[in-house]
Amino acid sequence: MRQQIAAGNWKMNLSFEEGQSLLKALQSSERPKDVLTILGVPSPYLKALHDDCSDDNLCIAAQNIHHEKKGAFTGEMSVGMVKSVGVNYVIIGHSERREYQKESNEMLKTKVALALEHGLRPIFCCGESLDIRKSGAQNQYVSNQLTESLFHLEGTEFSKLIIAYEPIWAIGTGETASPEQAQEMHKALRSHIAGHYGQVVADGISILYGGSVKPGNAKELFGQADVDGGLVGGASLKADDFRQIIHSF
Ligand code: PEP
Repeated sequence: MRQQIAAGNWKMNLSFEEGQSLLKALQSSERPKDVLTILGVPSPYLKALHDDCSDDNLCIAAQNIHHEKKGAFTGEMSVGMVKSVGVNYVIIGHSERREYQKESNEMLKTKVALALEHGLRPIFCCGESLDIRKSGAQNQYVSNQLTESLFHLEGTEFSKLIIAYEPIWAIGTGETASPEQAQEMHKALRSHIAGHYGQVVADGISILYGGSVKPGNAKELFGQADVDGGLVGGASLKADDFRQIIHSF
């Protein structure tokens, strides 16, 4: 059975105190044992919030790492720095970074390799724009993102990844892919993975859906055969909403 995952992405939101309270609220409430909860938090909070996490199934993630190991990159954060504070997860290739920081498939390939080399588990984001969706080329486009950034990996390394399919037109827009649209893409990605790594590897990979997941739509989305959870932005900032999402499997 694949790992079920509810991942939050706080982006550049919440003060440190607000983040601590949100983490406490999630920790103090009953959570299903078999659901892994991951919180992508702002860089300055990584160590403190990681140290506050005492449960095995509630973990902290960085939202990014730099593609070089070290050096003169003012304001950046290296993979080794993230690892040195004990954090074991990192979001790589979020569409906001692809767009605003011009992160290419080639650069993300380097980041994924670096993360795995340092024992971090990447949450690799992929997804198409509205124009690509309208043209009908979305499956080919997103499959190609996987091919170019991930398919250099050995099967054992690839198996450590978490994939997050996030159609750009559904992120922060209130518009959600329908459960059928999500399932169609997740199934296509799993079969693309199977074509390269074989069915066993493909069947073991958790593929999360992201894009305006909220308490009212999470159950139906997570109920799809190939949807193994969600990467959640806005609704992960409110304890009650995120708690409901965690309970939507
Ligand atoms: C995201 O940032 O990854 C995301 C899916 O955001 P939202 O849930 O707000 O659409």
